[in-house]
Amino acid sequence: MTKNAEVMLGMELPDVALWSDRVAVALGQNPSPFTGPGTNSYLIGTGSHRILLDPGEGAETYLPVLESALDRAGCEGIQEIVVTHAHPDHMGGVASVLQRFGPLKVSKRPWPGSDEKFGVEVTAIDDGAVIQTENATLRAIHTPGHSPDHLSFMIEEERALVSGDNILGVGTAVIPLDTGDLHDYMRSLERVLAEEPRRIYPAHGPLIEDGPGKIHEYISHRNEREREILAALQRQPMAVTEIVRIVYAAYPEVLYPAAGQSVTQHLLKLERENRVTRTPGAEPLSARWALS
Ligand SMILES: [Zn+2]
Repeated sequence: MTKNAEVMLGMELPDVALWSDRVAVALGQNPSPFTGPGTNSYLIGTGSHRILLDPGEGAETYLPVLESALDRAGCEGIQEIVVTHAHPDHMGGVASVLQRFGPLKVSKRPWPGSDEKFGVEVTAIDDGAVIQTENATLRAIHTPGHSPDHLSFMIEEERALVSGDNILGVGTAVIPLDTGDLHDYMRSLERVLAEEPRRIYPAHGPLIEDGPGKIHEYISHRNEREREILAALQRQPMAVTEIVRIVYAAYPEVLYPAAGQSVTQHLLKLERENRVTRTPGAEPLSARWALS
């Protein structure tokens, strides 16, 4: 198990909690090495019907938890559903919520080829979209990198950021090799940093009280890794596995496959920025990489 997976598994949160006057959280009942204590599904607003953001993966035990969250939050039902991105632990729960609560609007930024898997009709929203409920205004910010469709949301009344999977309360954000993009991800972090969010409501793990501090931490962690990779390449052109042996020399070898993915993401980002080149035509993992 990777270090991140151990950290993710080691944390517990209550099933239902009120994190502010207008934000309640219901745990998605899907704990795992990848989701930590599970997905945070959020009820936002103060009215009789709230916005439900990211209703988990569709675990059978989630609906009773959602009911008790509605109860704790003092409301009767759901106004509409908003989804940060089309990963199963965020969107998989939409269908069963619709079954239980009847037809509701489901808004997200479209991701053709992925949205269809969830069998629900989606209303397309994009960067700048505003979703309103009593005492809460959500403004969408397109923040790709973890996934291409990923939206974060500012809750304007609190100057708080709902960060989805971009910034987590536990463990590190994952940039998948196939559909993720570290270059986009770093730009997305800069983008949300510019919003100066006071606090961050992450999709996994506890509330983050120091928003800018956490975003700075994420940015400097990746920048430091990038500097180490560039320093390794200063010696000579290398393959990903060789870079991993240098940069992760202090870590156990069992982490090297995961580290290889992370290094590859960095190299693809640097390639896009014309700072490194690879053997022409070679796949990222088999290529030799060199400084430009
Ligand atoms: Zn995700």
